[in-house]
Amino acid sequence: MSLLSERAASGGRRLPPVPKIHFEDLERDPAIIYVLDWDLRIVHCNLAWDQFAEANGGARWRRTHVIGTPAMSVVPPDLFPFYSGAFAQVRRTGESWTHRYECSSPGRLRVFHMNVLPCLESNQILVVHSLAVERPHGPERPPVPGDPGVHCGADGLLRMCSHCRRTKRASEPVWDWVPSFVERAPAPVSHGLCPVCIMYYYPDVRAHRQGKPLLLH
Ligand SMILES: [Zn+2]
Repeated sequence: MSLLSERAASGGRRLPPVPKIHFEDLERDPAIIYVLDWDLRIVHCNLAWDQFAEANGGARWRRTHVIGTPAMSVVPPDLFPFYSGAFAQVRRTGESWTHRYECSSPGRLRVFHMNVLPCLESNQILVVHSLAVERPHGPERPPVPGDPGVHCGADGLLRMCSHCRRTKRASEPVWDWVPSFVERAPAPVSHGLCPVCIMYYYPDVRAHRQGKPLLLH
Protein backbone atom coordinates (compact mmCIF):
# COMPACT_ATOMS: atom_id res chain seq x y z
CA MET A 1 0.00 0.00 0.00
CA SER A 2 1.32 3.46 -0.81
CA LEU A 3 -0.73 6.08 0.94
CA LEU A 4 1.34 8.86 -0.53
CA SER A 5 0.71 7.92 -4.12
CA GLU A 6 -2.92 7.05 -3.49
CA ARG A 7 -3.54 10.33 -1.76
CA ALA A 8 -1.76 12.32 -4.43
CA ALA A 9 -3.85 10.65 -7.10
CA SER A 10 -7.07 11.08 -5.15
CA GLY A 11 -6.79 14.83 -4.74
CA GLY A 12 -8.66 14.47 -1.45
CA ARG A 13 -11.43 12.32 -2.86
CA ARG A 14 -12.55 9.15 -1.16
CA LEU A 15 -9.92 6.42 -1.24
CA PRO A 16 -10.57 2.71 -1.86
CA PRO A 17 -10.68 0.25 1.08
CA VAL A 18 -7.30 -0.93 2.32
CA PRO A 19 -6.29 -4.53 1.51
CA LYS A 20 -3.82 -4.78 4.39
CA ILE A 21 -2.41 -2.41 7.02
CA HIS A 22 1.34 -2.46 7.69
CA PHE A 23 2.16 -0.15 10.60
CA GLU A 24 5.77 0.31 9.43
CA ASP A 25 4.56 1.77 6.12
CA LEU A 26 2.64 4.49 7.96
CA GLU A 27 5.42 5.72 10.22
CA ARG A 28 7.06 8.26 7.89
CA ASP A 29 3.94 9.30 5.99
CA PRO A 30 3.42 13.09 6.34
CA ALA A 31 -0.31 12.58 6.86
CA ILE A 32 -1.56 12.14 10.44
CA ILE A 33 -2.60 8.50 10.54
CA TYR A 34 -4.06 6.23 13.17
CA VAL A 35 -5.52 2.76 13.16
CA LEU A 36 -8.63 1.64 15.05
CA ASP A 37 -9.83 -1.84 15.86
CA TRP A 38 -13.40 -2.75 14.97
CA ASP A 39 -14.55 -1.46 18.38
CA LEU A 40 -12.99 1.95 17.58
CA ARG A 41 -10.08 1.72 20.00
CA ILE A 42 -6.84 3.33 18.86
CA VAL A 43 -4.28 0.58 18.22
CA HIS A 44 -1.61 2.57 16.36
CA CYS A 45 -0.57 6.16 15.54
CA ASN A 46 2.21 7.26 13.22
CA LEU A 47 5.03 9.74 13.80
CA ALA A 48 3.07 12.63 12.24
CA TRP A 49 0.48 12.17 15.00
CA ASP A 50 3.11 12.87 17.65
CA GLN A 51 4.58 15.77 15.68
CA PHE A 52 1.17 17.41 15.34
CA ALA A 53 0.48 16.92 19.06
CA GLU A 54 3.82 18.49 19.99
CA ALA A 55 3.41 21.44 17.61
CA ASN A 56 -0.07 22.22 18.87
CA GLY A 57 0.64 22.04 22.57
CA GLY A 58 -1.02 18.71 23.05
CA ALA A 59 1.74 16.67 24.65
CA ARG A 60 -0.91 14.71 26.51
CA TRP A 61 -2.13 13.48 23.13
CA ARG A 62 1.15 11.70 22.32
CA ARG A 63 0.62 8.21 21.01
CA THR A 64 2.03 6.64 24.14
CA HIS A 65 -0.94 8.19 25.97
CA VAL A 66 -3.74 7.47 23.52
CA ILE A 67 -3.07 3.97 22.22
CA GLY A 68 -5.67 1.68 23.75
CA THR A 69 -8.19 4.45 24.34
CA PRO A 70 -11.54 4.75 22.52
CA ALA A 71 -11.33 7.12 19.53
CA MET A 72 -14.78 8.47 20.31
CA SER A 73 -13.65 9.70 23.74
CA VAL A 74 -12.10 12.77 22.10
CA VAL A 75 -15.17 13.61 20.01
CA PRO A 76 -17.29 16.52 21.31
CA PRO A 77 -20.67 15.27 22.56
CA ASP A 78 -22.70 17.02 19.89
CA LEU A 79 -20.61 15.49 17.10
CA PHE A 80 -20.81 12.00 18.57
CA PRO A 81 -23.74 10.95 16.32
CA PHE A 82 -21.98 12.38 13.26
CA TYR A 83 -18.72 10.47 13.75
CA SER A 84 -20.15 7.31 15.28
CA GLY A 85 -22.56 7.18 12.32
CA ALA A 86 -19.67 7.55 9.89
CA PHE A 87 -17.67 4.76 11.50
CA ALA A 88 -20.75 2.53 11.64
CA GLN A 89 -21.34 3.15 7.95
CA VAL A 90 -17.73 2.20 7.13
CA ARG A 91 -18.03 -1.05 9.08
CA ARG A 92 -21.44 -1.89 7.63
CA THR A 93 -20.72 -1.13 3.98
CA GLY A 94 -16.99 -1.86 3.79
CA GLU A 95 -16.61 1.41 1.91
CA SER A 96 -14.45 4.38 2.83
CA TRP A 97 -15.80 7.72 4.06
CA THR A 98 -14.34 11.21 3.81
CA HIS A 99 -14.79 14.52 5.58
CA ARG A 100 -13.21 17.96 5.27
CA TYR A 101 -12.51 20.21 8.25
CA GLU A 102 -10.41 23.19 9.35
CA CYS A 103 -7.73 23.07 12.03
CA SER A 104 -5.83 26.35 11.85
CA SER A 105 -2.71 27.55 13.62
CA PRO A 106 -2.01 31.13 14.80
CA GLY A 107 -0.35 32.02 11.51
CA ARG A 108 -1.88 29.73 8.93
CA LEU A 109 -5.24 28.57 7.66
CA ARG A 110 -5.17 24.77 7.45
CA VAL A 111 -7.84 22.53 5.98
CA PHE A 112 -7.58 18.76 6.29
CA HIS A 113 -9.19 15.84 4.50
CA MET A 114 -10.14 12.97 6.78
CA ASN A 115 -10.32 9.61 5.04
CA VAL A 116 -11.68 6.61 6.93
CA LEU A 117 -10.74 3.37 5.21
CA PRO A 118 -11.83 -0.11 6.30
CA CYS A 119 -9.46 -3.07 6.22
CA LEU A 120 -11.79 -6.04 6.08
CA GLU A 121 -9.00 -8.60 6.33
CA SER A 122 -7.87 -7.47 9.78
CA ASN A 123 -11.13 -5.84 10.93
CA GLN A 124 -9.32 -2.56 11.43
CA ILE A 125 -9.98 0.98 10.29
CA LEU A 126 -7.32 3.29 8.90
CA VAL A 127 -7.92 7.02 9.54
CA VAL A 128 -5.84 9.41 7.43
CA HIS A 129 -5.81 13.18 7.98
CA SER A 130 -4.13 14.83 4.96
CA LEU A 131 -3.35 18.52 4.74
CA ALA A 132 -5.37 19.85 1.80
CA VAL A 133 -4.97 23.63 2.16
CA GLU A 134 -2.35 25.65 4.02
CA ARG A 135 -1.81 29.39 3.59
CA PRO A 136 -1.39 32.51 5.73
CA HIS A 137 -4.61 33.89 7.17
CA GLY A 138 -6.08 36.55 4.91
CA PRO A 139 -8.15 39.70 5.37
CA GLU A 140 -11.27 37.60 5.91
CA ARG A 141 -10.01 36.92 9.41
CA PRO A 142 -8.71 40.17 10.89
CA PRO A 143 -6.82 39.57 14.14
CA VAL A 144 -7.92 41.32 17.32
CA PRO A 145 -5.88 41.73 20.49
CA GLY A 146 -6.80 39.32 23.23
CA ASP A 147 -8.49 40.69 26.31
CA PRO A 148 -9.17 38.19 29.10
CA GLY A 149 -11.69 40.67 30.50
CA VAL A 150 -13.73 40.37 27.29
CA HIS A 151 -13.20 36.73 26.43
CA CYS A 152 -12.95 34.88 29.76
CA GLY A 153 -16.24 33.65 31.13
CA ALA A 154 -17.31 33.88 34.75
CA ASP A 155 -16.02 30.34 35.16
CA GLY A 156 -12.54 31.50 34.10
CA LEU A 157 -12.61 29.55 30.83
CA LEU A 158 -11.97 30.67 27.26
CA ARG A 159 -14.37 29.22 24.68
CA MET A 160 -12.42 28.42 21.53
CA CYS A 161 -13.58 26.83 18.28
CA SER A 162 -11.73 23.56 17.62
CA HIS A 163 -11.71 24.20 13.88
CA CYS A 164 -11.13 27.91 13.12
CA ARG A 165 -9.66 28.54 16.60
CA ARG A 166 -11.61 31.77 17.08
CA THR A 167 -12.51 32.71 20.68
CA LYS A 168 -16.00 33.63 21.86
CA ARG A 169 -16.59 36.84 23.75
CA ALA A 170 -17.92 36.04 27.20
CA SER A 171 -20.97 38.29 27.12
CA GLU A 172 -22.07 38.18 23.47
CA PRO A 173 -22.28 35.67 20.62
CA VAL A 174 -19.28 37.09 18.79
CA TRP A 175 -16.26 34.96 17.91
CA ASP A 176 -12.98 36.85 17.52
CA TRP A 177 -9.79 35.76 15.81
CA VAL A 178 -7.19 36.17 18.58
CA PRO A 179 -3.96 34.55 17.36
CA SER A 180 -2.19 35.25 20.66
CA PHE A 181 -4.78 33.09 22.48
CA VAL A 182 -4.13 30.23 20.06
CA GLU A 183 -0.42 30.66 20.63
CA ARG A 184 -0.65 30.84 24.40
CA ALA A 185 -4.02 30.90 26.11
CA PRO A 186 -4.11 33.09 29.23
CA ALA A 187 -6.69 30.81 30.85
CA PRO A 188 -7.90 27.21 30.57
CA VAL A 189 -9.65 26.58 27.25
CA SER A 190 -12.97 24.86 26.64
CA HIS A 191 -13.11 23.69 23.04
CA GLY A 192 -16.20 23.49 20.89
CA LEU A 193 -17.34 24.63 17.48
CA CYS A 194 -18.46 28.10 16.49
CA PRO A 195 -21.74 28.57 14.57
CA VAL A 196 -19.91 29.23 11.28
CA CYS A 197 -17.95 25.99 11.47
CA ILE A 198 -21.04 24.01 12.44
CA MET A 199 -22.90 25.48 9.47
CA TYR A 200 -20.05 24.95 7.02
CA TYR A 201 -18.66 21.58 8.05
CA TYR A 202 -21.66 19.94 9.75
CA PRO A 203 -24.82 21.24 8.09
CA ASP A 204 -26.84 18.22 9.18
CA VAL A 205 -25.77 18.70 12.78
CA ARG A 206 -26.80 22.33 12.56
CA ALA A 207 -30.23 21.39 11.24
CA HIS A 208 -30.52 18.93 14.06
CA ARG A 209 -29.66 21.51 16.69
CA GLN A 210 -32.35 24.02 15.67
CA GLY A 211 -31.00 26.93 17.63
CA LYS A 212 -29.95 25.03 20.73
CA PRO A 213 -26.94 26.38 22.67
CA LEU A 214 -23.60 26.41 20.95
CA LEU A 215 -21.48 23.36 20.95
CA LEU A 216 -19.08 23.57 23.84
CA HIS A 217 -17.61 21.07 26.20
ZN1 LIG B 1 -15.07 27.95 13.99
